[in-house]
Amino acid sequence: MSCKMCEKQKNIKDDPYFIMELETGYVILGWFQRFKGYTVFNCKEHGPELHNLEHSFKIKHLEEMSIVAEAISNIFKPDKMNYELLGNGCPHIHWHLYPRVKGDTPIVSSVYQLSNEELFDESTRPNEEQREELKEKIKNEIVRLLLK
Ligand SMILES: [Zn+2]
Repeated sequence: MSCKMCEKQKNIKDDPYFIMELETGYVILGWFQRFKGYTVFNCKEHGPELHNLEHSFKIKHLEEMSIVAEAISNIFKPDKMNYELLGNGCPHIHWHLYPRVKGDTPIVSSVYQLSNEELFDESTRPNEEQREELKEKIKNEIVRLLLK
């Protein structure tokens, strides 16, 4: 069965939102920054479930996902990080890492209570300069954490 994300990952480094490659995945800046710092971590393996991954790869993937989230947390200082591994639309393992702050949604719950218009609001898409600045910050912090 073909998977859009497996296909896309062949040229992922050409994606303008691509931040960096880790051992088990690719760090991608979220297209929309309604939640400032929103970042996606795509697994190099399809999955679709965590338990389908080879054990040591899975442990490494979870560790790297945690480092990406930590980097975002250090930069954006949210009240709470959200780690979302859903895959209902695309089953390929990919994490939505959302920095959350008090009052950022009407109800204290998942970001998906917002309408698509709000989640994918073009006015929250960073311009090229902002995008490059965000990518650089996130990359530098991940590298710093990996060297610790
Ligand atoms: Zn896939």
